[in-house]
Amino acid sequence: MNHDELADWSKRAADWVRDYHAGLRDRPVRPDLAPGDIRAALDTPVPEDPAPIETIFDDFTRIVPDGMTHWQHPRFFAYFPANAAPVSMLAEQLANGIAAQAMLWQTAPAANEMEALVVDWMRDALGLPATFTGTIHDSATTATFAAVTTMREKAIGFQGIGEGLSSAPRLRIYASAQTHSSVDKAVRLSGIGQNNLVKVPGRADDPLFSMDPEALDAAIRADLDAGYKPAGVVFAIGGTAIGACDDIAAAIQVAKRHGLPTHVDAAWAGSAMICEEFRTLWAGVEEADSVVFNPHKWLGAQFDISIQFLKDPGPQIQAMGLRPDYLQTPGAEDIVNYNEWTLPLGRRFRALKLWFLLRAEGLSGLRARIRNHVAWAQEARDAIAALPGFTIRTEPILSLFTFQFRDSAATERLLDAVNRDGRIYLTQTMHEGDYVIRVQVGQFDVTREDVMMIPEVLEDLSRRI
Ligand SMILES: *Cc1c(COP(=O)(O)O)cnc(C)c1O
Repeated sequence: MNHDELADWSKRAADWVRDYHAGLRDRPVRPDLAPGDIRAALDTPVPEDPAPIETIFDDFTRIVPDGMTHWQHPRFFAYFPANAAPVSMLAEQLANGIAAQAMLWQTAPAANEMEALVVDWMRDALGLPATFTGTIHDSATTATFAAVTTMREKAIGFQGIGEGLSSAPRLRIYASAQTHSSVDKAVRLSGIGQNNLVKVPGRADDPLFSMDPEALDAAIRADLDAGYKPAGVVFAIGGTAIGACDDIAAAIQVAKRHGLPTHVDAAWAGSAMICEEFRTLWAGVEEADSVVFNPHKWLGAQFDISIQFLKDPGPQIQAMGLRPDYLQTPGAEDIVNYNEWTLPLGRRFRALKLWFLLRAEGLSGLRARIRNHVAWAQEARDAIAALPGFTIRTEPILSLFTFQFRDSAATERLLDAVNRDGRIYLTQTMHEGDYVIRVQVGQFDVTREDVMMIPEVLEDLSRRI
């Protein structure tokens, strides 16, 4: 394919994408497939000779769409949203077309300077103080890994990057039991170890399921007495299972008293903070050292883009950054080279889709969507609560709630029926030992009608359980 053909086929691809999105409501959200079905349909020996693009494109349209779970389906209420506003798709096409590698300022000046700009824009849009700067990662997992690795190095005077950890004291990281598994992964891979992640118990009867600040203090004190070295605290704002939000304002005082750095994981819920009325959920966040949120979830920027805000990037650069001879930038030693803030060296031009999105939708447009989602989730919750046999197990936190149908076994059977039916897509979690179904409202094109199909489908299918 040459560039003239690329231009031609790009138009055809764009037409196909338009039709795909227009037809999503007619498809099941999740395909009813067995593992291996798609591989079997695709399986040929490795191509020795070139094939016409028509044939390849036909095979794609014939096999791939039916083999996908449709994250952009308006009735996708599972996991969390991974929105892709059309304008962010357009920006991705342009970034693909330039195909730059933004590892250093000089390898992609516009990408790096736009990155600094959109990080500042988002900081202001979320109501974070101007003392934060930040960078863009691929995922919240990577950002949290960077934050935890930096906690490790701060705790041991940056000796670990040279000496390793064999003679270091045993470090401890603290988090609520509601934090995402990316925190577990971060302690495992940073060499701190899973057994040194202390899951702090929650406050009794707290509708936000926050960690108990007194239990945090007690855990730190007990560890100090036992000869451990506390290294940092990770807070959850909008935990994946039920949307748990730590009381940062209270718990961060404990962390500060013990001189511990803090990281806030708001990967999903962070987008909602463009609405002032939701910011009470993360009151105290301005005191944190590091905050991560994913514009690729609720906000609408095409996957993947994760922003980490940092009070002081110095320690993270010291922990993560390297400047071998071939990456020196003579005469510009003070320039920001974001690869030194992040795990990979190579970096995509991710800022572009957020720049397009924020300009084209405006914060006002993005806020209106999120406010609708929160209101419609409440309506769906009320309708489900009124169905026979259904109980709300956790109340909506933003647009996420959970419910149960009769007992754990019946709930599991109902979920299976729902996802075989295909009109809506929901997923499960465990809450206080029970199997519960999660509902999350947040897809970019979802309407109130789509949301109200949740109680309709549940009523219909539960009669047969
Ligand atoms: C989605 C999510 C993550 C993981 O995000 P990735 O970008 O997929 O790594 C972490 N924490 C929370 C609270 C999340 O919602």
